[in-house]
Amino acid sequence: MFLTKCPRIFRGIVLLRKVSPMANKIVKENDPLREIIKKIPKTDLHVHLDGSIRMKTLIEIAKKEKMELPSYTVEGMNELVFKDNYNNLQEYLNTFGYSCAVMQKPEYLEQIAYELALDNQAEGVRYVEVRFAPQLHINKHMDMKTVLLSVNRGLDRAQKEFNSRKEVVAGEEPPFFYGIIVSALRMFGKYSDYYANFIDAHPFSDAKTIASLGSLELARGAVQVRDEEGIPITGFDLAGAEEGNPAKIHIQAFQYAHQHFLAKTVHAGEAYGPPSIFQAITDLHADRLGHGYYLFDTTKFEGEKVQDKEQYVENLCQYIADRRVTIEVCLTSNMQTNPSLKDIQYHSFKKMVERKLSTTICTDNRTVSKTTVTDEVLLAVRSFDLGPNTLKNIVIYGFKRSFFPENYIKKRQYVRQCIDFYEKIVKGTKLES
Ligand SMILES: [Zn+2]
Repeated sequence: MFLTKCPRIFRGIVLLRKVSPMANKIVKENDPLREIIKKIPKTDLHVHLDGSIRMKTLIEIAKKEKMELPSYTVEGMNELVFKDNYNNLQEYLNTFGYSCAVMQKPEYLEQIAYELALDNQAEGVRYVEVRFAPQLHINKHMDMKTVLLSVNRGLDRAQKEFNSRKEVVAGEEPPFFYGIIVSALRMFGKYSDYYANFIDAHPFSDAKTIASLGSLELARGAVQVRDEEGIPITGFDLAGAEEGNPAKIHIQAFQYAHQHFLAKTVHAGEAYGPPSIFQAITDLHADRLGHGYYLFDTTKFEGEKVQDKEQYVENLCQYIADRRVTIEVCLTSNMQTNPSLKDIQYHSFKKMVERKLSTTICTDNRTVSKTTVTDEVLLAVRSFDLGPNTLKNIVIYGFKRSFFPENYIKKRQYVRQCIDFYEKIVKGTKLES
């Protein structure tokens, strides 16, 4: 029933998606580093719930809900929808349409969140921040609170199960924790029943005003549910197409989040350049940046009147470095969304590392991009020749710069425990620093 509606959800969010197979060529299945990287404690601070649903689950729910799919086997769906290479934008967008369509009931959200946590745990991820746009899932079965509680139930169950393992209870291994990040969308369209109703309810407001109101409503809802229910909603995000949808439209929502101690991360510099990153930091108080891919690009100023672009970039980098604004780097995803990026070695991550910026390796979308944290870390190590020290710093930044739901003393203890465990795993291997 949602299927006809959902494929349009992500239209406009993504500018152009064409998967380059380059990224995957570098990572080999039998790479001896893979097993070590899999074992080290890792984080994923940028992973979208709707881009990371298990294919088997998607098919199961679709059958239960009598939704039409082009195939009812994992192989078939991988061949026809979730492809290794996408020929055009529509093909790529269809993937989100299918996953969103099966995320419209509380029990499905819970299951999908639970399985995402399990998949992370199975590859050594000890801390994950799951993000999604609750307003895409509000319908006659669920209000915002139900949406958030359902996702939390799944993550919480996976956390409890993991942390009752004997190695964790004995303190030999670090526990698993999670945070929830709610995503506001840069633009507003009739993507779901909720969005359609919201637009219809504001006939005298222009699109930008409605978008602004929509994110403010999300910020208020997230803070209220966090405070009333005590669930770890720790961050506020802005996702969607940067083009024509400047961050400053969402100032009020981010101001509200800021004043209520929700941490902030903003998708910026994914499709647009330094001014978009600047706005994220100055107008939206971003603690972290999603992607930041075009941080160094002096050609992407989109009409902004800046006299000395190189100096601007220099100042911006200096600010980001000094304040430890952490960049959530998603290598495979960037290869998919930036057709100009023909070879992973030209990715700006190289410069970020050289300039000692705080970066963390993330997946963005596990299912859509067919990747894992282990694969992304391995890709980073192999493509940019990261030494053991650099790798360790990047992995540990993930823990340090997380929007950890507990107090700072507990966070420090947890980070220390993860560092100790990391050192134990790499001892005697090529990754020992
Ligand atoms: Zn993202």
